[in-house]
Amino acid sequence: MTLSHMREEKLHSYQNWIFDWSGTLVDDLAMVLDATNHVLGVYGKPLLTKKEFQARFRLPYTGFYEEVLPDVPLSELEDHFRAGFASSAASGVESPLLPHAQDFLKFLSQRGVRMFILSSMDARAFDEHAKDLGVKHYFEACYAGVLDKREQIHRVLEEHHLAVDKTVFLGDMTHDVETAQHGGIGSIALLTGYQSREQLLSVTPDYLIKDLSELRQILDTTPTSQ
Ligand SMILES: [Mg+2]
Repeated sequence: MTLSHMREEKLHSYQNWIFDWSGTLVDDLAMVLDATNHVLGVYGKPLLTKKEFQARFRLPYTGFYEEVLPDVPLSELEDHFRAGFASSAASGVESPLLPHAQDFLKFLSQRGVRMFILSSMDARAFDEHAKDLGVKHYFEACYAGVLDKREQIHRVLEEHHLAVDKTVFLGDMTHDVETAQHGGIGSIALLTGYQSREQLLSVTPDYLIKDLSELRQILDTTPTSQ
């Protein structure tokens, strides 16, 4: 992928990096699919294939559940989801870091940038998982269990005094891009997660990048002025 010179320079200028978690840093699609199907199974609904899930699932997940299970209270759904998530883990399904995630976080940390998490993942599940994977220490603050990230982004920016033109949000879903746009910050959409190139392009992210390795390659090149 070739970025124009100006856009490449802009990427180099970001001092504050806000990360989504699922599909951006961790490969947890198999567990989330298991947990979602557990919820659907409890209510006798047809289970989703991975493809169907990727086509239909969206954030905020309240919208998804209103569509597939209208009239069931969210707290009840979340309890079943947590149970499904735990039983998926117990049956041996894993959610490892995505390839290049550890390298990328270390790389950014060495550049002295500030890093944050903004995720819809259940806060307790996120906390345990991030510690188990040995990456929690990279983040100055973590906002997990966030239903609608658009409603939190200004709080994140304000609480940490992050200048909008020096801040970027990386995610794998259209909601992540829309959150960045809502906050007036940069958006990087990654193709390592839950949504397709076409879905992500529909909301015009500033950057659409294959994976964290490609992003690191771009950042590794010294920007030259002309
Ligand atoms: Mg995600």
